[in-house]
Amino acid sequence: MNPCAFLREDFFYSSIYKFSTFLNHQIIKFPNQYIITSKSYLCRMIRITKIFTFETAHVLYNYDGKCKNMHGHSYKLFVTVKGNPINDLDNPKNGMVVDFGDIKKIVKSEIIDLWDHAVLVNGASPHKDLGQDLEHKGHKVIFCSYQPTCENMLYDIAEKIKSKLSGDVTLAYLKLHETENSYGEWFAEDN
Ligand SMILES: [Zn+2]
Repeated sequence: MNPCAFLREDFFYSSIYKFSTFLNHQIIKFPNQYIITSKSYLCRMIRITKIFTFETAHVLYNYDGKCKNMHGHSYKLFVTVKGNPINDLDNPKNGMVVDFGDIKKIVKSEIIDLWDHAVLVNGASPHKDLGQDLEHKGHKVIFCSYQPTCENMLYDIAEKIKSKLSGDVTLAYLKLHETENSYGEWFAEDN
């Protein structure tokens, strides 16, 4: 490159760098162009959601409604995490809060693989005997330490997911549909 051309380019780059810094923006240099972009746009907090489904039975001890009878639901779970997207061209996850695939691995191993096509019983109630009888007959039983309602399942799901998240990524929100018209919600700010 002609030294004079280089100096001119260097001076130009230096000038727009100062200008972009003054505006709290960052400059991205490409071979034939410069892009000035807002730092805040790249670094602000954002939420991402992944949706899961699983088929699970439950039975509620001492309940006075239909759910006292063992039955199943096609549960639909919304998992929302939040964080700052990675801003690093050398990082394969550049531009992501977290890889959707990583959320899937956590929810699958911690919840879906365990609960899908299983029956949740309240292991802290006389239903423990019912669960043990089913288990002895070869059925997949999950002994919960709580009444397996939509609400308590959400607390459990939240703890399981939180224990596996790392870095600055945190659990923000959960929604668990028991039916199309009935669901519970868990908000990080409430807990
Ligand atoms: Zn139910």
